[in-house]
Amino acid sequence: MLRADIREYGEGDRSGAHPEEEGGGGACYGGFGEEAQGIRCRAERPIGAGPLQEMRQDARGSVQVGMLQVGIRARFVNLFWSACNATTEQYFKEILKDIKLMSPEASNYLMEKSPRTWSRAYYQVGRCCSSVENGGCESYNAIIVEARKKPIITMLEELRMYMMNKLFTTKLNGWSSDVSPEIRLGLNELKVNQRFWEVLPSGFNQFETRSGSEAYEVDLDKRTCSCRMWQLNGYGCVHFVAAISYLNRDVEKYVDTYFFKAMYMKTYHYKNCPMNGSKMWSETNYISPLPPNNRRMPDRPKTKRVRDVSEKGGNHRFSKKGKKISCSL
Ligand SMILES: [Zn+2]
Repeated sequence: MLRADIREYGEGDRSGAHPEEEGGGGACYGGFGEEAQGIRCRAERPIGAGPLQEMRQDARGSVQVGMLQVGIRARFVNLFWSACNATTEQYFKEILKDIKLMSPEASNYLMEKSPRTWSRAYYQVGRCCSSVENGGCESYNAIIVEARKKPIITMLEELRMYMMNKLFTTKLNGWSSDVSPEIRLGLNELKVNQRFWEVLPSGFNQFETRSGSEAYEVDLDKRTCSCRMWQLNGYGCVHFVAAISYLNRDVEKYVDTYFFKAMYMKTYHYKNCPMNGSKMWSETNYISPLPPNNRRMPDRPKTKRVRDVSEKGGNHRFSKKGKKISCSL
């Protein structure tokens, strides 16, 4: 699905609201698609105030590539991703301390890049998007890759036809549940992993979840977990799922309304109208444009994508350099 179209809902326009969650007025929403993947901006707009938007950098495209370009070794990349995915400031600082011990240069570089814009530890809660990469652009580029080689009118026509077909088939196929399929997949994964967490009930709907030396507070009434993941992604974290499993309740009842079918259908209730072919188009008084002269270029046209600096070296192939080779004979 092309995820570049942004829909805005006016005040109180959340007819897909969960029965347990009333209202939602006073907010303005913008989404890139049906699922949590990709950058989704949500701007809370208190009455009488302008929208509060959160700026995020694409962690892979903006930060990691820059890190490799300035010569910081690839061995920090794993620690960098841990810092990106850290949901609390304490955990983020702990990882940064490790990076600093190994390379003060890498630590300084990352701090210069403003962690507020690329680490979950500093993302604002309530946006229902915990993505640190710009999946929206990647999906968009994957779709236009063939069409963009063509002349402008043909390209626009192909994109229009794709959108018309996609909007129809997506609505036709539908969902097997009220909750987005991708969110259900995420919840299923959390259900598998929740068994490692011990749940200790506290007050009504309040729990302490423990695993080894780690412990987090879960409050079902406030819909919060102290790991912050639930507040960031809008559908839950492993601690929340452990608490829900302890009560033997349905986790989908706690998913944010953004991920409900009703909200999806509202976002994509528009349709692209069918059009006649160019022979049926009305004539104008303008001179018909002619195609440009053919020019023979010195080399074959390149079809392969220019790989990013972070992709060079091949993630799919491993060098045998340094590997001990033995003979079975
Ligand atoms: Zn949690």
